[in-house]
Parts: sequence; C-alpha cells; structure tokens
Amino acid sequence: MPNSFLIVANWKMNGSRSLAAELLAALKLKHHTWPKLKLIICPPNLYLASAHNTLHGTNLSVGAQDLWFGSAPATGNTSADMLKDIGAEFVIIGHSERRQLNLESDLVITSKLNAAIEHELVPILCVGESIEQRRSGNTLAVIRQQLQGAISLIRARPQAKIIIAYEPIWCVGTGSRASSIDIKIVHAFIKNLFMQYNTSVQVLYGGSVNANNVADIAAIEFVDGVIVGGASICKTSILCLCDRAELGISSKGVLQVC
Ligand code: PEP
Repeated sequence: MPNSFLIVANWKMNGSRSLAAELLAALKLKHHTWPKLKLIICPPNLYLASAHNTLHGTNLSVGAQDLWFGSAPATGNTSADMLKDIGAEFVIIGHSERRQLNLESDLVITSKLNAAIEHELVPILCVGESIEQRRSGNTLAVIRQQLQGAISLIRARPQAKIIIAYEPIWCVGTGSRASSIDIKIVHAFIKNLFMQYNTSVQVLYGGSVNANNVADIAAIEFVDGVIVGGASICKTSILCLCDRAELGISSKGVLQVC
C-alpha cells in the first residue's frame, strides 16, 4: 500500500491559545477530505498537550519542534519521555534555525536523534546547505556530513524510523524555493545514501512551501512530503495548501518510499 504524503506543519515560535484552537479545529473539520495526506502538527511545546487532546481520535498527529537528551539537570529543556507523555509521536531535530540560533552541532543533533529513537518518537531530521555552500558546489557534501550521525544510528538499529527533511537554508522563511531539479537531485541522493544500508527513508522538502507551489513540489519524483513553516500558521493558507497537495499527488500516482 502506498504511503501517505506527509505534511509537517512547523508553527515555529508562533501562535497563541486562541490561534492554536482555531487552526486545530479547522484541520480537524477538513482532514477527512485529504485521504492521501498524513498531517503532523508541530506547535510550540506549550500548546502540544492541548493539540494532542483536540486531535485525539483523528489521524492527525502531533510532533514537537525539538527535545533535549540525557537525564542531567537541564533547566528549561523538555525531554523525549515528557513529549511522549503528552502525546507527541514525532519530533523535529536539527532545524536550521536551531543550528544557527542555538549553535547546535551535528554531535548534539545526533544525541537528540538517539534520544528520540530510544523513546520511540519518530525524528524528522532537517538538513540543508547555505547559499554559500550551494554556490561553491558543496551541497551534497554538506548533506552527507549532516546525515552521518543518522546513518550510524540506523546501522546500529536498522529497525529505527527516521524521516529526513531537506531544507535548504536559503529557502527557509525567505519566499524562495529550490528548483524542482535541485530538489529531485538532493532527495535522490539522500535516499541512495540510506539504501546503501538497506534502509528506505521518507524525504520531505521544506523551504517556502505554500498553497501556490505545493502541487508542483508534491509532483516531483522522490518527494514524500513537505515541511511548512510560515504558511502553516494561517488557517486559509494551510487549508488551501492541503487541498492543493491532495490534488498534486493525485497527478503523481504512487509514492515511492517505505
Ligand atoms: C520551516 O520552518 O521548516 C520552514 C520550511 O519554514 P518556511 O515554510 O516558512 O520556509
């Protein structure tokens, strides 16, 4: 049976109780009209529990935007078992904003991946090159480096599930998206890398996805879903985006992975 097309709504540090309630109610009402989509809503942690309660009994899932690992005192952080406890099933790890603002290294990101896997949260690992790295022809080398930790974890635990999100940094929140051919090349590269270890991964594209471009992006070979930031925190945009993604993948036919 083909997989669903994933739509990950990354609300980032946006929203309020009332906006969260409005968005969740709208998605809950309409999600049955998108049979080919699987939605994962990633609100700020403060709204995770209420999102889980609101969406309980639907096939919409909730995910967190980050976690912390280890059991040492870690004021202000949230652990994998806490996220699990309030109903999260997924967790975004290594988002470029965290790599930049919180100076997260690949080592820290690998520890977070490990914590997620140990607690049976599915990690959505974000990778992507800067504009300088792309211009100097280093895109694939950068992506390979960012995936090393995930690959060693998969080699140690072949049953673990990891989703990869290709998010070129120069496309996140900028209004620019990567070209279809560039997306296809990087997604194929990522899938091939994991195939060398007999693992098939779902690869999502992220970076200025909106209602106007989602059908085109969904139709690209090797794209198993999208991660949406800005367009996911406006009711009209996210509903329209889901409508168009549903249409876009209908024209693509069978999805490729897992
Ligand atoms: C993101 O934050 O993961 C993202 C892709 O943001 P945007 O859609 O706003 O570019």
